[in-house]
Amino acid sequence: MDTKIIRIADPLNVKDSELTEAAGIIRAGGLVAFPTETVYGLGANALDENAARKIYAAKGRPSDNPLIAHISCMDELPALVSAIPETAEKLAAAFWPGPLTMVFHKKEIVPYGTTGGLDTVAVRMPSDPVANRLIRLSGVPVAAPSANTSGRPSPTQAAHVIEDMNGKIDMIIDGGPVGIGLESTIVDVSGGMPTLLRPGAVTLEMLTELLGEVAVDPAISGPVSADVKPKAPGMKYRHYAPKAQMTLVEGTADKAAACIAREALKAAESGKRVGIICTEETRALYPDGVPGIVLRVIGSRGNEETVAHNLFAVLREFDDKDVDCIYSESFSGENIGRAVMNRLLKAAGYHTVQV
Ligand code: AMP
Ligand code: MG
Repeated sequence: MDTKIIRIADPLNVKDSELTEAAGIIRAGGLVAFPTETVYGLGANALDENAARKIYAAKGRPSDNPLIAHISCMDELPALVSAIPETAEKLAAAFWPGPLTMVFHKKEIVPYGTTGGLDTVAVRMPSDPVANRLIRLSGVPVAAPSANTSGRPSPTQAAHVIEDMNGKIDMIIDGGPVGIGLESTIVDVSGGMPTLLRPGAVTLEMLTELLGEVAVDPAISGPVSADVKPKAPGMKYRHYAPKAQMTLVEGTADKAAACIAREALKAAESGKRVGIICTEETRALYPDGVPGIVLRVIGSRGNEETVAHNLFAVLREFDDKDVDCIYSESFSGENIGRAVMNRLLKAAGYHTVQV
């Protein structure tokens, strides 16, 4: 298949005329990758089971891993969900449009092909102007998982999408690098207690401040066994995975850096290529210019949003450079650091070392 790649001249001031063709493709059952504020999405008509099937095929994604339906405004929600609980109204007022997904009981119109066989549907209203406008122009809710090959790090730049999807989908919209760099926060509002299923830029702290009590799904911080029907099925699969074995070193930054530097030098001496994820604060604790070691400053500990922003691009770069193993420092586990640690733990297959 020929994939048409278009570039939005000014993504903050996108013109409808730039998105007309893309909206037509989605309406006709095709696939369009587009930028959002979280990561790039791979969009199709969420009400068309056939179109959903194409998403699973293009990504190589297991079909019991449900898709998030994206809407452009609140008026589009009642068509998809059987009830809008008060909690959801509060969350929508505070965080929509934005990087928050909510799980509701679905209406019949939403096909099981979109929800991975579940009676619930996950819905998000993106704030990114290109994403929001494209959904509005399509006139249908847009199912959009991350636009990566299943199992690879999510795409945060159009180049990542082109790497994974060129030749497999109808169109890729290049709207420049995304803002946040991690997938949306997911909260289940379909039961009694709101439950955090996936941490993201809308943090647990922000949710708790708004709602009082919020439950946290145990799968966020640990592996889920293979026979569990996943609540947020992204948790079941080894997501966000770089090709190399990754080790996450937990402990104070100084001790972690010392441990990583030692292990990396050993590995490099034995002929391996090693990727290291460090921070502005710890950069000076690592040796310079050692052959076989790729050292990357992922951001600043003082501002973990920068770490979130760069994480997936750095993991992809390590793939491109064919490193054999990756060592990463760990992060706070609070606020956006909770989402960063969740993705790092998954990328490492929960392989951690304490120092
Ligand atoms: P992505 O990995 O970017 O495609 O995000 C999709 C993720 O949203 C899935 O892997 C699930 O974790 C979550 N999700 C989608 N629909 C539901 C649902 N009905 N219930 C719970 N989680 C869902
Ligand atoms: Mg994904």
